[in-house]
Amino acid sequence: MDYTLQPRIPMSSPDLTEAEREAVLSVLHTPSLSMGPHIRRFEAAFRERLGLPHAIAVNSGTSGLHLCVRVAGVRPGDLVITTPFSFVASTNAILFEGGVPVYVDVDPLTGNLDPQQARAAVTDLLAGGAAARKWLPPRGAPVKAPLKAVLTVDVFGQPADADPILETARARGLKVIEDSCEALGATYKGRPAGTLGDYGVFAFYPNKQITTGEGGMVVTGDEAAAALMRALRNQGRAPGDTWLAHTHLGYNYRLDEMSAALGAVQMSRLDELLDKRAQVAAWYAERLADIPGVEPPHIRPETTRMSWFVYVVRFDPALNRDEIIRRLAGEGIPARPYFAPIHLQPYMVERFGYRPGMYPLAEDLGRRGAALPFSGVMSEAQVDAVCAALRRVL
Ligand SMILES: *Cc1c(COP(=O)(O)O)cnc(C)c1O
Repeated sequence: MDYTLQPRIPMSSPDLTEAEREAVLSVLHTPSLSMGPHIRRFEAAFRERLGLPHAIAVNSGTSGLHLCVRVAGVRPGDLVITTPFSFVASTNAILFEGGVPVYVDVDPLTGNLDPQQARAAVTDLLAGGAAARKWLPPRGAPVKAPLKAVLTVDVFGQPADADPILETARARGLKVIEDSCEALGATYKGRPAGTLGDYGVFAFYPNKQITTGEGGMVVTGDEAAAALMRALRNQGRAPGDTWLAHTHLGYNYRLDEMSAALGAVQMSRLDELLDKRAQVAAWYAERLADIPGVEPPHIRPETTRMSWFVYVVRFDPALNRDEIIRRLAGEGIPARPYFAPIHLQPYMVERFGYRPGMYPLAEDLGRRGAALPFSGVMSEAQVDAVCAALRRVL
């Protein structure tokens, strides 16, 4: 096959240099492959960047979210308000502890949790009875269950509207977990994403803004929570525990040294990486502006810095998104539906009885949205090629 005829543009690509390769190799010249100096360096980079006293490196964003749900005190049957418009990990972390995700629909512009609806849900859930009932899933939720936390998601690299959510949560003594797995480097009214609630989580899968292959980081200002999370990631070993002493039921959520060394170099390049992604997003915005039927992403004024994770456009409701994706594929351009709302995933339907139409705004975004190929290493010519193909297909 002649690949020069149809240059295949990948959906996403990591941005790696010789410095990353050397850092990983250097670890292999030492005997210290886990819980060594590179983890400490990587964690220090997050504390400095985010201005928080605690950063706990873990082996995935999902692990980080699970630790947050656990230290937030979510017990079997407890309720956690969250969004159906996310990657499944944000909901799964609640389910791992036996918690019940209570969904609230989204801001139709950003796809982030709607703070007004979140406030109404908190009020009604605490009131109980019929008022509470209307927020709960059709089945599988206990009748009287305590509301423990709100889990927000910074969708596609744009922080959720945190201030009104925090106000509601603080007034009611609820913990706020911020899933910033898509938003490293973003700011909300000047404050860094991940620092807005009680705990923030980042992820480093290869399509994220920085990568460690697999990996994640929890940040918090809460010292006791940080100490517990450090113990839980390391098989429940509390400070002072020997290798075979386990104060808590813990997990192996440790990040290895090779990954941490890679991550530390990526962190030192964060602004460069984000600027490159912003440039690619700007190229897209320029070209899409005169393609009818294609809506570019909406950035709210509260988003003082966007951290571009994916580039998701929305097609006019009259257009057939899936057909467009199929035809783009025929032109050698990959595109993906993004996100498929969580409440309609088979395991959620089976357990909680969700039906289409229950979260119409999230579902509409799920139906009309498509992620175009996106990364910081994309060239202007590649963006041209994607947009030209899109124009032909439409
Ligand atoms: C990437 C991501 C995660 C975590 O992903 P891992 O693959 O476990 O690192 C969690 N939530 C959201 C919204 C994500 O995009």
